[in-house]
Amino acid sequence: MAIEFVKGDITKQDTEAIANAANSRLAGGGGVDGAIHHAGGAEIMRELKEKYRGCSTGSAVITGGGKLKAKYVIHAVGPVYSGRASDAQLLTSAYRKSLELCTENNICSVAFPSISTGAYGYPVREAALIAVKTVGDYVKTHPEIKLVRFVLFDDETFQAYKEVYSRGVMVS
Ligand code: ADP
Repeated sequence: MAIEFVKGDITKQDTEAIANAANSRLAGGGGVDGAIHHAGGAEIMRELKEKYRGCSTGSAVITGGGKLKAKYVIHAVGPVYSGRASDAQLLTSAYRKSLELCTENNICSVAFPSISTGAYGYPVREAALIAVKTVGDYVKTHPEIKLVRFVLFDDETFQAYKEVYSRGVMVS
């Protein structure tokens, strides 16, 4: 099993699935969401509209990958940061539900962006701790997941995730 951290663009990843930081209306938007719909083409939005009527915060839904290299997109809805304890629970749940969708769909490799730390305002270090710990906990009991790659868009986010990981958050 491998956990990787790369600085880059999630739309270019060749993992079986990539995760999207979606909004609860599944309406598309800016940031990573806009980039994924732009690169994957209109098919992804068509499938979302056909199959789902939104997605609650802390949950996730799955579609095909359209024109992307990845076969699937997992649309995860993280919380808008509010400073309440529920933020952490909802962010944990968004990652966990995404990983459960991998298991259910026989997906062995998945790439994640830094959910909630852009427009949704979650402090990067706190979000990185939650992301890395939730993935670490899940893969310990789910050997079917062979690769989780965090794809971080900017240097500050990339450094924060790497630092959290190297400080041994995984070993609990
Ligand atoms: P949210 O609304 O959940 O905060 P955003 O898309 O605004 O989602 O931001 C989440 C993170 O995704 C930010 O760190 C942002 O820089 C990053 N991001 C934006 N575009 C891409 C991309 N193409 N690949 C990977 N990460 C991206």
